[in-house]
Amino acid sequence: MSLTVLMNAGPWLPVPPPGYGGIENVVATLVPELRRLGVRVVLATVGSSALPVDERLSVFDDGQFQSLQRPYNQVSGVAQAHMAGVVRALRERPDIDLVHDHVEAVGLATLAAMGEGAPPVLHTLHWDLGKHPDLYGRIDGGDRVRVNGVSASQLARAPRALREHTVGHVHLATPLADTARRRAPVERGEHVVILGRITPGKGQDLGARVAQRAGFPLVLAGPVGPYHRPEELAAAGEAARQNPDVRYWYERVAPYVDGVRVRWIGTVAGSARDDLVAGARASLFPLCWEEPGGTAVVESLALGTPVVGIGRGCLPELIEHGRTGLLTDDEAELADLVPAAGLLDGAECRLEASLRFAPAIMAQRYVELYERVRRLPGTARPAEPAFAGGIAVDGGAAGGPVAEGR
Ligand code: UDP
Repeated sequence: MSLTVLMNAGPWLPVPPPGYGGIENVVATLVPELRRLGVRVVLATVGSSALPVDERLSVFDDGQFQSLQRPYNQVSGVAQAHMAGVVRALRERPDIDLVHDHVEAVGLATLAAMGEGAPPVLHTLHWDLGKHPDLYGRIDGGDRVRVNGVSASQLARAPRALREHTVGHVHLATPLADTARRRAPVERGEHVVILGRITPGKGQDLGARVAQRAGFPLVLAGPVGPYHRPEELAAAGEAARQNPDVRYWYERVAPYVDGVRVRWIGTVAGSARDDLVAGARASLFPLCWEEPGGTAVVESLALGTPVVGIGRGCLPELIEHGRTGLLTDDEAELADLVPAAGLLDGAECRLEASLRFAPAIMAQRYVELYERVRRLPGTARPAEPAFAGGIAVDGGAAGGPVAEGR
């Protein structure tokens, strides 16, 4: 296939991410599959990304995730600076056939505003669509910009203007879906795990309360705001409480974390993360929001661990109640579902992941959407001058040195 895609992963974390990073994990899963299908991938990311690609563009040397802690007037320039680099590259590169964008809000707004100067765009909506009503209620990408959701339930809640731009949803995939069968089996323990950012929507407070009441061991893994380790959070002192997730942690979760029955182990990565999930009796999703895509849900299935949770957002779409997990609308019932999850068959979970959430399936679906977006009227690009550089460009297949300065 002769297709060059600029994959815009954004400035926040390297690809693959060192630990936490839902969007970056999805991009790291998608890119190798696309390249296997013959797609040329130019990755717009940060300089420290190690994912093998055909070419890399970066404005920042390293992930800017920590700066998300700063107030808006100090942080908003980060995504803008990254997008300015992407826009410059697109203006100067007629060889790019399509942009697949993953940058929240500013990616969509900037690429929609580029008009004829940009190739066709597919923007993936990874987040809760209630977050940007001012943008999504007014968006006009003409015939050149389309969006896809990460679940049907997410798109069902999209504002009308955004819905007019949609080409459907693509469920997330995980690399674990392909490797699960080859993994050495991990013995299933008694613990239950909640893997993810510690934030009100993910409901760690509810999970911790239920664990204390019902008496099962619960491990919370993931960052609190920008803090990946309990010691880091403790060292940050009072100032850290400016972050709403840090306040949530101290006020609503920490009172139930006794270090014995309920533990917070910080961010986990690589095989430690996989073993933690694969060895759990269940992954718990005590959702207090409409979870849009659920990377960690799909990962749990791939690792053969049933899912227990509140049946909202994408959960009922991903989990078959009674086979791959147990869902309820009633918080009081969660405690009863945890022991019952031990009776579910992990092999069914792995099978489901390999049939529905495999990387090759996700890539095939994206290639279909790329073709659909490229066939839209109004996607022909005027001839552009040859690329003159300006942002860091790395042409190495596996991430060599940066060839041009910023
Ligand atoms: N994650 C991780 N280590 C952690 C917590 C999370 O590797 O300690 C990963 C997790 O495996 C998943 C991603 O971060 O791939 C979280 O993605 P999800 O969509 O579940 O959450 P969100 O993007 O909403 O934060």
